[in-house]
Amino acid sequence: MPLLAPEFVFHSEGWLREHVVDVDNEGFVVSLRKRQMGDVVEQMPGYLIPGLVNAHCHLELSHLSGQIAEGIGMAGFIREVFRLRNAFSEDQQVASLSKAWHQLSDFCTVAVGDICNTDATVSIKQQHPELLTHSFLELPGLDPSRAERVWMHGETLRQAFLELPHSFTAHAPYSMSRTLLQRVYEHSRHLSIHLLESLAEIELFVNRQGPLADAFHDFGIVFPSFPDHHPLDYLLRDLDPQSRVIWVHGTLLRELDILRLMKQAPDSFFCLCPRSNRYLHGRSPDLSQFAAVRHRVCLGTDSLASNWDLDLWKEVREVLSLPHPPDFHTAVSWATTNGAHALGLGSKLGKFRPGLRPGVMWARYTDAEKLQKIA
Ligand SMILES: [Zn+2]
Repeated sequence: MPLLAPEFVFHSEGWLREHVVDVDNEGFVVSLRKRQMGDVVEQMPGYLIPGLVNAHCHLELSHLSGQIAEGIGMAGFIREVFRLRNAFSEDQQVASLSKAWHQLSDFCTVAVGDICNTDATVSIKQQHPELLTHSFLELPGLDPSRAERVWMHGETLRQAFLELPHSFTAHAPYSMSRTLLQRVYEHSRHLSIHLLESLAEIELFVNRQGPLADAFHDFGIVFPSFPDHHPLDYLLRDLDPQSRVIWVHGTLLRELDILRLMKQAPDSFFCLCPRSNRYLHGRSPDLSQFAAVRHRVCLGTDSLASNWDLDLWKEVREVLSLPHPPDFHTAVSWATTNGAHALGLGSKLGKFRPGLRPGVMWARYTDAEKLQKIA
């Protein structure tokens, strides 16, 4: 491949100009250096960007693409997922998963943080190791008397994922008994937890009422007495400060909450899924709240059950269109370097460094509709 000489090359500190990137035919970076007289280069307008890292997805829900109405909120979403749980054959589910998986590559994604309640994604992940994954094995359960059973299911799940990078995780504050939450915390130091996605979550903790409480009641789920009156208090009560936690959504997080999370769990990341929030709730995260932790923000699409596609570049464009947007370089860092660090892949992806194979993508303009894969 000729030396690539784009107008701008991504670097963690900012855009590099007058630089060339040498990439071999297998996509490994040979060098990134200043352009020299006599270099034979392929001149390119625009931006050279490492492959995208989708920090939050649920690939096993891909068959629910287009099945759930927009704007129905969290409780409505849970009801729909429950209603549709047996509506698709295994063949349909496998076909949808395969389509979604190839969509990820088409959208210039090189790694995905995937939430798993089943082993449905194991074989495709093993067959296609070129797309790196971290599987968060999710163990939800509100009934403390069933915690042991959920845990046994988790152990079985773990056996299926043994050959793949994985860790146990809690689902969300409103879906975990304290017994189960403590057990997950004891056994995992790499978590991905849904947090403050909707008002219903806060309402549940403050008043023990609202649409989530109603949904659980209708499902006959035994409701525990949470020891705390705010989701944050509940999640932080037993959390080991050494844990790396990806706090997902955070559409209602305030700066004080964010600073508190950083203080108690300094290796926290904040994964925004703005298009999923718009799809389900018709609202967006308040980016002004994240100003102090811009180096810890990453992006995810969430699942096809609550998004139109798995195009992470569209999430970049979405954050750039919101009030208090980050600058373009920061937004690209969220979709690359920061996502890689959040998934424990920071030494492999998210930067052009000799010996790495981070994926080489090209954006003609800052508002380019699509990223293009170069290598
Ligand atoms: Zn999610």
